[in-house]
Amino acid sequence: MEKIQNYIGGQLLEPISKTYLDNVNPATGKVYSLIPDSDAQDVELAVKAAKEAFPAWSTTAAEKRSQYLLEIARLIDEQHEALALAESIDNGKPLKLASHVDIPRASANFRFFATAILHQSSESHLTDQVAINYTTRTPIGVAGCISPWNLPLYLFTWKIAPALAAGNTVVAKPSEVTPMTAHLLSKICQKAGLPAGVLNIVHGLGPKAGQAIIEHPEIPLISFTGGTSTGKSIASTAGQLLKKVSLELGGKNPAIIFADCDYEKALSTTLLSSFSNQGQICLCGSRLFIEEAIYEKFKNDLVQKAQALKVGDPMEDDTRVGAIVSKAHYEKILSYIELAKLEGGRVLCGGKAVKVAGRCEEGYFIEPTIIEGLPYTCRTNQEEIFGPVITITSFTDTQEMLKQANSTSYGLAATVWTQNLDKATSVSHQLKTGIVWVNCWLLRDLRTPFGGMKNSGIGREGGWEALRFFTEAKNICIKL
Ligand code: NAD
Repeated sequence: MEKIQNYIGGQLLEPISKTYLDNVNPATGKVYSLIPDSDAQDVELAVKAAKEAFPAWSTTAAEKRSQYLLEIARLIDEQHEALALAESIDNGKPLKLASHVDIPRASANFRFFATAILHQSSESHLTDQVAINYTTRTPIGVAGCISPWNLPLYLFTWKIAPALAAGNTVVAKPSEVTPMTAHLLSKICQKAGLPAGVLNIVHGLGPKAGQAIIEHPEIPLISFTGGTSTGKSIASTAGQLLKKVSLELGGKNPAIIFADCDYEKALSTTLLSSFSNQGQICLCGSRLFIEEAIYEKFKNDLVQKAQALKVGDPMEDDTRVGAIVSKAHYEKILSYIELAKLEGGRVLCGGKAVKVAGRCEEGYFIEPTIIEGLPYTCRTNQEEIFGPVITITSFTDTQEMLKQANSTSYGLAATVWTQNLDKATSVSHQLKTGIVWVNCWLLRDLRTPFGGMKNSGIGREGGWEALRFFTEAKNICIKL
């Protein structure tokens, strides 16, 4: 059975303890590889390597750093098929999705930041003809990057690429639930000739290897994506140590559909924004607010389309809904469906686990589920489920709908469907979310700020926001 290894100081290494964890293929329920159960000793080794590499990497010309990162992007594209297959096996997502979204976006992350640093400029100000102020932005040191399982390589590289581009060295940990593509990235970095110690990848459990990264005194900045409760615990540890933190956390996103929308586009995109990646994208819309005038029609059409989505083997080309990432998460989603029923919800479609015949009969599959009739204040409508489960509610009064849309503790993203520009603008401005999509969903421009308000996080990723996070500003004032 394949043993994943840590990538430290340019080498693939066993964990010091020599202990491993099982890595399960969620579509079959079978263990198919082993993950290092790393601890503080492995993190110590990784930090040492990253510290040693920092002086040379941070002073390497931007153009040279850019070349390394572009070569990594090229190798990701060259190994696109193998990476997509690994992502699908590890995560349970349809191979087609990994192939069309996850892997191309991972190489795009490297390419974007590799070229962004070539265009970075710093500020200067002439102050009343008596002084000149100029601001330098320099790399900080060893960055800790921790990512979740839902878009494994995509979100891992979304942190690593700007951290390295800005001149930091990195100690990173992918989710223990989906470690395989990070392991393949280690080999790509070796092939790209990335200097030893510039990127170090430590595998293992969050409370063990992850916590050791958060607590390490030689890691002054932490970029984290994951659940809100983990984010709170990280923030309190990092706060005591006065570390710089960026937190991208959970969401409970509203999708608002007005009667004057482009109906077919709203319907087909809402199907995607509800159930893509089994609903396990932090940006999925899980609470639909549909204007009364089209409520019944939209509901019936959406239910029909959801029922037509093929749930099954992620390897099959026509599969639209693959496996839930793990047994624990599968059980959590099913328990939320039971909770929704207890809270008075009517399950319009789905609501059950699916038995897929053949090699996937032990896998973790759940039908796309649509629930109506729930008050906006109930737990089903307030807590993140992170699965193929959405609730739908009708509205007539826009202000009342906005009150409900804004009522959760989260504030990551929202979707608005209307052909009326004034309405789109007014509603967008009133939504308490970091991202609003009007008449689209998941349309990304890597230059835009990415992140959430309230319990969805602190800080923003993307574009200059990321490069600012991964650098320290210093202002120098010279009297003329
Ligand atoms: P999680 O919080 O359980 O784990 C995320 C990562 O943190 C993993 O690598 C894990 O090993 C590590 N970790 C866990 N405990 C830790 C600790 N004490 N110290 C350091 N590291 C620790 O989240 P998950 O279940 O992997 O991911 C799903 C969550 O991520 C959802 O809530 C989802 O909304 C969120 N998410 C947010 C965004 C965003 O951009 N805002 C994007 C994707 C996912």
